[in-house]
Amino acid sequence: MNVFTNAENLRQALKAQNDKKTIGFVPTMGALHRGHLSLVSTALSENDCAVVSIFVNPTQFDNASDLKKYPRTLDKDVALLETLQGSVFVYAPEADHLYNGAVVSRHFKYGAIAKEMEGKHRHGHFDGVGTVVSLLLKRVEPAKAYFGQKDFQQLQIVKKLVELEKLPVKIIGCPIVREENGLAMSSRNKRLSKEQFEAATVISKTLKEVKENFEKLSIPQLNALAKKRFDESKLIELEYFEIANEATLKTAQRKIKGNTYRGFVAAFAGEVRLIDNMQL
Ligand code: AMP
Repeated sequence: MNVFTNAENLRQALKAQNDKKTIGFVPTMGALHRGHLSLVSTALSENDCAVVSIFVNPTQFDNASDLKKYPRTLDKDVALLETLQGSVFVYAPEADHLYNGAVVSRHFKYGAIAKEMEGKHRHGHFDGVGTVVSLLLKRVEPAKAYFGQKDFQQLQIVKKLVELEKLPVKIIGCPIVREENGLAMSSRNKRLSKEQFEAATVISKTLKEVKENFEKLSIPQLNALAKKRFDESKLIELEYFEIANEATLKTAQRKIKGNTYRGFVAAFAGEVRLIDNMQL
C-alpha cells in the first residue's frame, strides 16, 4: 500500500501512473470500518484509483477530550484498505503540514443549513470541516469525492463549500452502513461498552419507528414518540431528535405536501456522542 504524509509525494505518485487517470477521493478520520470501505469501493468502481485521507482534524472538534480519545489505528486502517481490489493511495498528513503551520479554521458563509442541528450543538464544527475539506480537495485534486449520508448535514455543507470555493469536483453521497443490530457504523462505536453498544440500538430503532408512523402521526406526535423512547432508555441520553426538511434542514413543525423529510438524532452513550438519520 502507498502511504503518503506529504501531498507533493502523493501527487507525484498519482502523476506517475498516468496524468489522465481519474481520482476518487474519500476523506476520513481513520479507525476505518465497513462504512468507510463502502465509500472507497464506490470510489474505486467509478474512478481509476482512490485516495483515502486519514486525518483526525483538530479544528472540527469542540471538545478536547473527544479529540484526545478519538481512535487512531493507522496500521490496521492500511491493512483493511489492502483487502480491497484496486489502486488505493493513503494520504495521512501531519496537521502542521496540511495547514501550512497555522492549525485554525477559516470562516464560511454556508447560510441557514449550518445553523441547524450539528451547527447548533457543536460550535465551530462546520468551519473546521470546511477548512480541512477545502485543504484536502486542493491537495488531492479528485474528479469526485465521496461522503456518507451518516453525516447528512455535513454532506450538504460540503456541497455548499464546493459551490462557494468553486472547486472542480463532484460530491457524491453514499448510503449509511449499519451494524447487524442496526446501529450506524462509526469509529466512535469502538469506545462503547457491550451494554452501550446494545442500548445504542434505540437510535436506529426509534428512527425506524418514526419512519413507519410518518404518514399516520403528526410531527409533534412523532417528536413525542421519539422522546418517549429515549426517556425509556437508561444508557442513552438524547441530545436532540429532529424532523427536518431534507433540502433546507430546517426543523419541520408540520408536513407540507411535496417536501421530503428526514429524522435526525444526536445522543450520548456515556461520553461517546453518536449521530444517525433516516429518510422518512
Ligand atoms: P469519519 O471518519 O467519521 O470522518 O467519516 C469519513 C466519511 O465516512 C464521512 O463521509 C462519513 O459520513 C462516512 N461514514 C462514516 N460512517 C459511515 C457509515 N456508517 N456509513 C456510510 N458512511 C459513513
